Amino acid sequence: MATFDAVLVGSGINTLTAAALLARDGWSVCVVERSDRLGGAIRTEADYTLPGFTHEVLSSWHPLFQGSAAYAELGDELHRRGLEYVNTELPTATAFPDGAAMFLQTSLEANVAEFDRFAEGDGAAWQRQFEEFMANADVSFGVLGTELWSSAGLGLGRRMLRRFGRRGLLDFAGHALATCRDWTNATFRSEQAHGLLAPWVLHTGLGPDNAVSGFMTQVIACAVQLGGMPVPVGGGVTLVDALGGIVTDAGGELRTDAEVERITVSGGRATGVALAGGESIGATRAVVAGVTPTQLYGALLRPGDAPPDVRAAAEAYRYGRAGMQIHIAMDAPPRWKGPDAERLSHTAIVHVTPGLDGVSRAVNEAERGLLPAEATIVAGQPCAVDASRAPEGKWIVWIQLQELPAGRVKGDAAGELDVGDGTWTEELREAYADRVVARLGESIENLGEATLKRVALSPADLERLNCNLVAGDIYAGSCALDQNLLWRPFAAAPGHRTTVEGLWHVGASTHPGPGLGAGSGYLVAKELTKPAMSRRVLAKLPGRS
Ligand SMILES: Cc1cc2nc3c(=O)[nH]c(=O)nc-3n(C[C@H](O)[C@H](O)[C@H](O)COP(=O)(O)OP(=O)(O)OC[C@H]3O[C@@H](n4cnc5c(N)ncnc54)[C@H](O)[C@@H]3O)c2cc1C
Repeated sequence: MATFDAVLVGSGINTLTAAALLARDGWSVCVVERSDRLGGAIRTEADYTLPGFTHEVLSSWHPLFQGSAAYAELGDELHRRGLEYVNTELPTATAFPDGAAMFLQTSLEANVAEFDRFAEGDGAAWQRQFEEFMANADVSFGVLGTELWSSAGLGLGRRMLRRFGRRGLLDFAGHALATCRDWTNATFRSEQAHGLLAPWVLHTGLGPDNAVSGFMTQVIACAVQLGGMPVPVGGGVTLVDALGGIVTDAGGELRTDAEVERITVSGGRATGVALAGGESIGATRAVVAGVTPTQLYGALLRPGDAPPDVRAAAEAYRYGRAGMQIHIAMDAPPRWKGPDAERLSHTAIVHVTPGLDGVSRAVNEAERGLLPAEATIVAGQPCAVDASRAPEGKWIVWIQLQELPAGRVKGDAAGELDVGDGTWTEELREAYADRVVARLGESIENLGEATLKRVALSPADLERLNCNLVAGDIYAGSCALDQNLLWRPFAAAPGHRTTVEGLWHVGASTHPGPGLGAGSGYLVAKELTKPAMSRRVLAKLPGRS
């Protein structure tokens, strides 16, 4: 039986990052992936719609990775291995039905002017909120980058207490719980400002009326101004290849078409994995599982391996709204309508929505099991940032829909589509995609005539590509507050250490949740490679550096 220091289950951004960090630290590692390729939700496909068109089939935008601790540590090496980021000064905008558009840019001055364009005084409000956020950015980003149930988490709590005092901390935490609706209404006068910011809440797995969505909106809005919307030249596959290269050059193994059927446990300690087909791989120091809690506790571990309360909590773990992707290859760049057409055509991500209430309505319809009448269309334009994605003069559109029912579709809020028995058939997928594309065509006048090919992926298709996207939940678990932050994945086993010694849980289902920030993989790798307590104490003795 092949044996490694660590076996990592799945090859998403978190396990790949952890594997690279462990390999650099001298660990022998083996990454085991059930799919035919590495990367999980990073899936770049050349010639996907037509020859010469390179699409990010799933995730596309890398501000989280570029802003991550993993990137800070591995960035130089990843660049040497071919990863190259390009960025834009026009990361995002919202296009409204009346033809108006509002932009969030990478310059504070430009944003102040933009907010003032729609309501005098909103510019100053933007600047104020940005400065207030930045004054405590270490704490806000710290919450998302710290193992909360650990001495580091305790340290962060103490730092907050020292800084704010007891009442101040209560006030800070209370504000962090506010909804996006309450925060935007209290901060900005113009409806357009609300409509610019509210769609970003969807990218955190929340809706604008959920607790904490106000805080998440601020985190994203400030991060977008600071970091823009970077993408890797040629697609995320270059990041996957670079991380994989670190592993293999250090002697590690990357296995594809290899499904882990069981995590083997002996004497309460994880000892390796058993693959479908009978092969076993041993792990002497750690098994790191980048899977959902449902799979981890319901399938990979035997019933007796974890306490009953943990198994019950895993069984009760909730999945959130489903997502859908539509990929379009165009014969020409888009001609957006309205006075800001030119700027829109250079913007990385354009949200098409009536505004805050539009997002709220579509989220609510999806949560009631309905296809939204007027979905928030996330129209991504990778070619606006990286021209290499399409042949010269051509274009691609990456459409993301994040407001679809979790599970069976009960009906259509617009009363137009027959949803049949509520399963995602090809007919339902294409009919819904037709409606979305027709609405996008109201904002992009040449969308219909310039479309060369369209490929739509329903929630069921997404799950087929990556089993962690249960029922098409692109975030591998509801991000509602009771399953987020201190409570992710659930209170019975929060954080990443599990009740099985040597078994670590990472991935989107764990803190700090979904996205390409590699946060959980980084935190676990750091925990595994930190010097033993005795060495840390010795290092602090006088005369030692
Ligand atoms: C459609 C879509 C668009 C997104 N867009 C963005 C974006 O633009 N920017 C952003 O920051 N985030 C985005 N996200 C979120 C982000 O991509 C994910 O949260 C993140 O990539 C998840 O990483 P992960 O480490 O949890 O593993 P995943 O990427 O979920 O990968 C898990 C891997 O484990 C494998 N696996 C599972 N079980 C087993 C087993 N038993 N044996 C072997 N292998 C197994 C799976 O096949 C899969 O390859 C998007 C997500 C989706 C789905």
